[in-house]
Amino acid sequence: MGGIGSGRPGWRSRVEDMLALDFRRLKKAGHLIPGKVTHSWLKSAYKVAEINLEALEDVLLLTVRSAPLRDNSWEFTQQRIPLAKMGRNRLCALCPKCGRAAQILYSGGMHFWCKACHELGYASQFVRPEKRAQ
Ligand SMILES: [Zn+2]
Repeated sequence: MGGIGSGRPGWRSRVEDMLALDFRRLKKAGHLIPGKVTHSWLKSAYKVAEINLEALEDVLLLTVRSAPLRDNSWEFTQQRIPLAKMGRNRLCALCPKCGRAAQILYSGGMHFWCKACHELGYASQFVRPEKRAQ
């Protein structure tokens, strides 16, 4: 069990290790048109997920089936992502945990939350300062 982001206190997951749901890309691809049901795949360094998206007026219903790359145990999650209009024609997601607007939501296989809620860092932030200077 376990998975990305679980366990070890003080250990931050990296953005690169997470499944990312990019709402700018979803919108461009027409996945956010109300009434539309689409199917897609997401992949990170350690996870692969099959995802079903059902767009409603102001919410996106996700059905995610995800598995670690070297394991056959699939996890099954359903989640509602609230959508909000930000200004003219700009649609963005609201993090289901904190309610903040986000263009990208991340998941270690279960819930899609914003970067802050997952306490994510970028790979470059994990390099020690003395190494970064070289
Ligand atoms: Zn959040």
